[in-house]
Amino acid sequence: MNTKERVHVLTLGCSKNVVDSERLMKQISANNFKLTDDPNNADTLIINTCGFIEAAKQESINTILDAVEMKKKGGLKKIIVSGCLSERYKKELINDIPEVDVYFGTENYEGIVNELGGELKKELLGERIITTPSHTAYLKISEGCDNPCSFCSIPLIRGAHKSKTIEELVSEAEFLARNNTKELVIIGQDTTDYGKDIYGKRVLADLLNRLSRIDGIEWIRLMYAYPSHFPDDLIDVIANNPKVCKYIDMPLQHISDDVLKSMRRGITARRTKELINKLRERIPGLVLRTTLITGYPNETEKDFEELCDFIKEFKFERLGVFTFSVEERTSSFILGDPVSEETKESRKAALMNIQKDISAGTNSNLIDTTVKVLVDRIEGEYYIGRTYRDAPEVDGEVLIALKDGEAEIGSFTDAVVYDYDEYDLYAKFS
Ligand code: SF4
Repeated sequence: MNTKERVHVLTLGCSKNVVDSERLMKQISANNFKLTDDPNNADTLIINTCGFIEAAKQESINTILDAVEMKKKGGLKKIIVSGCLSERYKKELINDIPEVDVYFGTENYEGIVNELGGELKKELLGERIITTPSHTAYLKISEGCDNPCSFCSIPLIRGAHKSKTIEELVSEAEFLARNNTKELVIIGQDTTDYGKDIYGKRVLADLLNRLSRIDGIEWIRLMYAYPSHFPDDLIDVIANNPKVCKYIDMPLQHISDDVLKSMRRGITARRTKELINKLRERIPGLVLRTTLITGYPNETEKDFEELCDFIKEFKFERLGVFTFSVEERTSSFILGDPVSEETKESRKAALMNIQKDISAGTNSNLIDTTVKVLVDRIEGEYYIGRTYRDAPEVDGEVLIALKDGEAEIGSFTDAVVYDYDEYDLYAKFS
């Protein structure tokens, strides 16, 4: 084991992959290997890939090919590829890109550490090297998914839903709080299914209450909720627990009954709207984020118009749109890909155009109000931060001029909003 080995871990894809890489980096450093932030400085490059839709797969393959070029030029001794792309296409990758030293699937920390010549430190599996700003960290509460969404390859890659125990998660969150984390971003493939496999019922509400008792944790933010089985007790916790942000990320994907049925989402347009109305009634100040797909095989122009009317009527504070990606071995694969890329993209652009006005409207209502801001970084002439309304990486931000006062990165400050654009707010220290 050459502990002088310099290792760089390159993470692609989603926040769940970020957590996997952070766990792996802890194992690597615990074996006294040197972690380097610069791939050009590394002896071994570990690429934690994404493989769930075409664009992500292409990005992963390009990254691997770039690494192969670096190795040919003598810049690298070893290339290790892990994560969702190699979990899904290991055989093909071994055949097509043999220059990679070894391919691993997802969460195979032991395999990778052994490959480096080290050994797995079981006692450290709940610990991570945080790659996000330390004051905000993802907490992955489960892996895999039991839902049958027709377009999705994640259950093929990550398997069935597996919850971590409340004890494991509380100890991981305590570790994060000891490392200055103030905001926990709760993630999984379907966070609302939390606990049903190990406790026989969904207990996300209990978990959030337990996490909120940890000193130092001030914001708990819920991502990846699933609409068809949204636990009622969770609504009360979000409404009443001061540490749980009045924020819910709940991908809905579509609203047309025909499309929802073909997507196998297990919910209808009527029940979706009833759930949204219930959430808004019982959680004053709620910020709802959702994600939609355009160009699903059986989406007609009429279905798309219905989707446009839906977002105009229900006014999500935050919205993201993906275009349909045909994925082999998913149940929608037999439907082919009849909607042209051009149509998919123009429908996506049309939805984001509607959303721009809705988001600007939401921001305009915040003029002259005082908001609590978590300061993330300094950029140019501004402190950049977020309110409870903004998840990291995907939502808007608050800009506070440096000249107006002082704030510490990773601290909370109150500020008065004086201006806005479609997505961001401009504020002054109050
Ligand atoms: S909920 Fe549906 S879209 Fe999300 S990971 Fe599970 S199967 Fe995929």
